[in-house]
Formats: sequence, structure tokens, C-alpha cells
Amino acid sequence: MAVPARKTSKTRKRLRRTNYKLSVPGMSACPNCGELRRSHRVCPSCGYYGDREVVKVKNN
Ligand SMILES: [Zn+2]
Repeated sequence: MAVPARKTSKTRKRLRRTNYKLSVPGMSACPNCGELRRSHRVCPSCGYYGDREVVKVKNN
């Protein structure tokens, strides 16, 4: 098995990882309730997808 010739230093490792960036998933406002939801997902606050209710949401 091939093995790296030398150890990756803490600095090298950290420099590489500066590029690992968290990205915010595509968010858009729900057309039914106006809450922010992820696009192409059922709205978590009202359970609507498109123009119909797909999931029943418990109202506490
Ligand atoms: Zn909604």
C-alpha cells in the first residue's frame, strides 16, 4: 500500500481545511406560510409542498 513520504504538518492540514467551507443550503420562502424552507423539500412549518398539504404538522 502506498504511504505518504512525510507527515502532513498541522499547518498544512489546517491550510487545506480552510477551504472546507460550510455552505447554506438553498433556502426560499414557503408560498403557503412564508416561512423559510429548503427548496425542493416539504415545508417543515406547514407541511405543504407546491399547492397541497403533503404532511400533517402537529400544532403544539
Ligand atoms: Zn409553509
